[in-house]
Amino acid sequence: MESELIAYLRRRLPSHPMLRLGIGDDAAVLRRAGADDCVLTVDLLTDHVDFELAEVDPRRVGRKALAVNLSDLAAMAAEPLAGVVALVLPRQGGMELAVALYEGLLPLAEQYGVAIAGGDTNSWDGPLAVSVTLVGKVTPAGPLVRGGALPGDRIVVTGAFGGSILGHHLDFEPRVAEALTLAEAYELHAGIDVSDGLSIDLAHLAEESGCGATIEIEAVPLADAAFRLVDRLGDGSTPWEHALSDGEDFELILAVPPEEADRMLAEQPLDVPLTSIGRFVEEPGLWQRDARGARRPLVARGYQHEFE
Ligand SMILES: [Mg+2]
Repeated sequence: MESELIAYLRRRLPSHPMLRLGIGDDAAVLRRAGADDCVLTVDLLTDHVDFELAEVDPRRVGRKALAVNLSDLAAMAAEPLAGVVALVLPRQGGMELAVALYEGLLPLAEQYGVAIAGGDTNSWDGPLAVSVTLVGKVTPAGPLVRGGALPGDRIVVTGAFGGSILGHHLDFEPRVAEALTLAEAYELHAGIDVSDGLSIDLAHLAEESGCGATIEIEAVPLADAAFRLVDRLGDGSTPWEHALSDGEDFELILAVPPEEADRMLAEQPLDVPLTSIGRFVEEPGLWQRDARGARRPLVARGYQHEFE
């Protein structure tokens, strides 16, 4: 399982004077004497896992390959700088596919001022794989990491959750500008982007911070897509369940000190709504509280890559 491999790498990878922050966050932070700290991140998308090439315009896949990396830079409140693109193309129709991927990726790169500095291309008889590596710059507000949440901090989220499979997972807007705005204007203790699922990514953040988190279930903002998905599935699942576990919302979860959170929520400085959905608590674990105030454990659900 991916979490086991990460645990192995945490033990196995040697420390290095340049690594201000290594494996285990949304991106690594590199420190070099006399220069701004850099942020480094990579993502890999594969046909049949992250998208179905037979069913989507490859331009949307190319855009997503960059957008997921931008979302990780947003989670660090870092400014995007440059990237490289690696493609493993199927032999049949590879050239046409590569052009379409780039035609989707390049407008987003331009929008975020990312210099595409190069890449590498292979072809084989297997499915398409696309990997983007991005470098970003830490701003004076410092990198936003997963490990800084304190008991009492509010859990503040951008946007709404659930049902991303209906299209949002391909066409989402990474919260780069939002993260930079918030990091500059408010004290933020910790942050993560929601790639695997609201509950599981919140659990990751709480765990890294050595605390727990309680979600006020009725406060979780539900995306329209969460309701549409429930209608479509007709399987008795609820929009709240989808909001907590669907993944690929690519919104931000932030740990914000209480007074800062009050100010932020009153000012609503972004185009996208900011919502407090609970607070971090001393007791480790994930909890949910319903409208009547009853508290019970919440099982973190979301996407995990499985392998043996
Ligand atoms: Mg992430």
